[in-house]
Amino acid sequence: MAWDFSTEPEFQTQLDWVADFCANEIEPLDLVFPGAAWSRNPKAKALADPLKQQVKDRGLWALFLDSDLGGPGFGQLKLALLNEILGRYRSAPVMFGTAAPDTGNMEMLAAYGTPEQKERWLTPLLNQEIFSAYSMTEPQGGSDPNLFKTHAVRDGDEWVISGEKWFTSAGERADIIFVMCTNGMYVVPRETPGVEIMDYPRLHNHIRYNNVRVPADHLLGPEDGAKVLAQRRLGGGRIHHAMRTVAQVRLAFDMMCERALSRESHGKVIAEHQMVQEAIADSYAEINMLRLMVLWTAWTIDNSSTRESRTQIAACKYTMGKVLREVSYRALHIMGSLGTTNLTPLQAMYAGAPTMAIADGVDEVHKATVARNVLKGYQPHEGLWPTEYIPAKREQARKKYESLIQADPDLAAWADAAVRHAERG
Ligand SMILES: Cc1cc2nc3c(=O)[nH]c(=O)nc-3n(C[C@H](O)[C@H](O)[C@H](O)COP(=O)(O)OP(=O)(O)OC[C@H]3O[C@@H](n4cnc5c(N)ncnc54)[C@H](O)[C@@H]3O)c2cc1C
Repeated sequence: MAWDFSTEPEFQTQLDWVADFCANEIEPLDLVFPGAAWSRNPKAKALADPLKQQVKDRGLWALFLDSDLGGPGFGQLKLALLNEILGRYRSAPVMFGTAAPDTGNMEMLAAYGTPEQKERWLTPLLNQEIFSAYSMTEPQGGSDPNLFKTHAVRDGDEWVISGEKWFTSAGERADIIFVMCTNGMYVVPRETPGVEIMDYPRLHNHIRYNNVRVPADHLLGPEDGAKVLAQRRLGGGRIHHAMRTVAQVRLAFDMMCERALSRESHGKVIAEHQMVQEAIADSYAEINMLRLMVLWTAWTIDNSSTRESRTQIAACKYTMGKVLREVSYRALHIMGSLGTTNLTPLQAMYAGAPTMAIADGVDEVHKATVARNVLKGYQPHEGLWPTEYIPAKREQARKKYESLIQADPDLAAWADAAVRHAERG
């Protein structure tokens, strides 16, 4: 009997430590020194680095990398359980070496990099000595990679990259940018002449690559392999986002329940009003549906591959945005006027829901993927009637009993009456 929803006691001890560490070390640091976890300011680093060291000493650094890629090899299921805690705290993913967009870029490097590329970029990324960004989306359209135009041309020992990218998260802070070209994935140091970062948007940068020259060995993976590398990167990234979203909706739920028990209206505690109970009950069910789907997907990845789990990953992708939208809205609403301010995490959480439905591919594209893949397991029915058309099935089933019915008129009469009764409903 292999079905089991329990966590190994040894790993549970680690999770308990993580929960305690996040609540007592990471959150206070984040509240008093927001952004210290990724700051290059020496004083901020002096506060954050010892905490990162504690995570490393505990063997919990960069858990997202499997052992065949040089990581600790805990697998996606354990990572999901960890991310259910980390996702509650803004800087926890950085403190544990599992923050996007670096994680996806490191996965690509680990899987496709040459030993020299790994030494040059993967090791410092893992140690957070450098940070990275990922340039794929272009201004003329992000959902369809066939519309992308950014291209690299070989010139002697160099590649010359020309094109325009849009919404490269943390591009202006990155040391290196992974640039998806129509003919390959290239690593471009941000300081390279020709990399032009526009003034807007601020966090997710619009970047022009004006004849940017990089050495030949800055091509990652095979020439023309960009789509394969991108899928590998984005598949992992999506499920990691979903794991952290579970943490977010649980936080919203905790806030909703606490508030519902804390205030009164029209003669009773808010939690006793049925419509509030409905909000709590629906949220409880939706959060658990999302959580189980994410854990099942993580387990499937561990037992097959990211590629073979892509239908499940796509389903997690569009479900997380929906659950985040519904649960954070209900929590915000039950919080009343306070919920509409930025004095609790709810306003930002609710505002983040549309983003979830767009980043890493719009929901519609993922829904189409799921439907397409699921439909591969079905065939059209033959003839006029669907397979489950009861009169046809009954006629077929009767053949199995024909000799019995022929031999026993009483049984035949009883069967006819029973069918008439069943058809009347
Ligand atoms: C917070 C955030 C961070 C991001 N970070 C990065 C990053 O680091 N690097 C990067 O390269 N990109 C990044 N992106 C960009 C993201 O990948 C794109 O926004 C996304 O792929 C959609 O592209 P688009 O914005 O051009 O929208 P479009 O492709 O123009 O789509 C707009 C709308 O059209 C409809 N639509 C499009 N295609 C279909 C379809 N096939 N079927 C049905 N309807 C469809 C949908 O309603 C969709 O929402 C980020 C986006 C966000 C929001």
